[in-house]
Amino acid sequence: KENLLEIVNLKKYFQVGKNATLKAVDDVTFNIKKGETLGLVGESGCGKTTCGRTILGIYPATGGHVYFNGQDVHQMNREEKLKFKKNAQIIFQDPYASLDPRMTIGEIIGEGMDVHLNLSNKERQERISDLLSKVGLNAEHGSRFPHELSGGQRQRIGIARALAVEPQFIMCDEPISALDVSIQAQIVNLLIKLQREMGLTYLFISHDLSMVKHISDRVGVMYLGSMAELASNELLYRNPLHPYTKALISAIPIADPSTEETRKRIKLEGEVPSPINPPDGCKFVKRCAHAKDICHKMTPQLKEVEKDHFVACHLY
Ligand code: SF4
Repeated sequence: KENLLEIVNLKKYFQVGKNATLKAVDDVTFNIKKGETLGLVGESGCGKTTCGRTILGIYPATGGHVYFNGQDVHQMNREEKLKFKKNAQIIFQDPYASLDPRMTIGEIIGEGMDVHLNLSNKERQERISDLLSKVGLNAEHGSRFPHELSGGQRQRIGIARALAVEPQFIMCDEPISALDVSIQAQIVNLLIKLQREMGLTYLFISHDLSMVKHISDRVGVMYLGSMAELASNELLYRNPLHPYTKALISAIPIADPSTEETRKRIKLEGEVPSPINPPDGCKFVKRCAHAKDICHKMTPQLKEVEKDHFVACHLY
């Protein structure tokens, strides 16, 4: 498959106070292929959301490049940027905070269409109704306000708003973590259905490894701003290699405890160190049970150790 996005040595640093630098995204390289879902996982503070936002150009990059259909996102002129904004949409974590309470649902969905698509009033109205039905609501919802809807319905509106401008790519930024567990699977299944119907490409950011397993084709694991492991969904969950990934996967609850399946939980020692002063060498070194001398001195690079399976660890 062709790449839709190429992320090359991407860095996003924030200046903290006078002398400290927070390395939220620290030299990250990966691709997102046309039509796939790439899951991005890691504990909070690992840089996954900042990475997504820097890819979309919401944050200017400190270094590196992001290519969308071969074009550098951070070097676009105004016209190209507008086109990129249409093609790369975002679904936010919090459907409560991300919808303007003074606007009707129809206005919220129509807003982007007015900027990016040249539609007659009739076409616009038809498109809004069509989008509402695509996300499992009906035309009548268009005249309501966000506070009249449930959390799950609001996230459906967030999805309809992203789809309204016919994007190629959607960054789903923890799209289910603010929702009731009973609603989460519905929203993920809706995203999967829409992807099939419309040929969309997703970056799915989440700390929920079981949900990421359900939706993703490939998965990247971030730790303290770096990519620790990147593999096809099947390989990552069946044969995790990085000690951090192993620990994360060992903590996923087993769906049916009555089965023969058993799993030894690997407990992670210590807290996530601050991205302001990460340790030298491997950033995971202080929590790793396998650390060797070299791990304190040299940063491991992401290497392909088997087909479609990349890991940044001196053990491999
Ligand atoms: Fe552990 Fe060393 Fe691998 Fe880092 S490089 S994860 S410290 S073994």
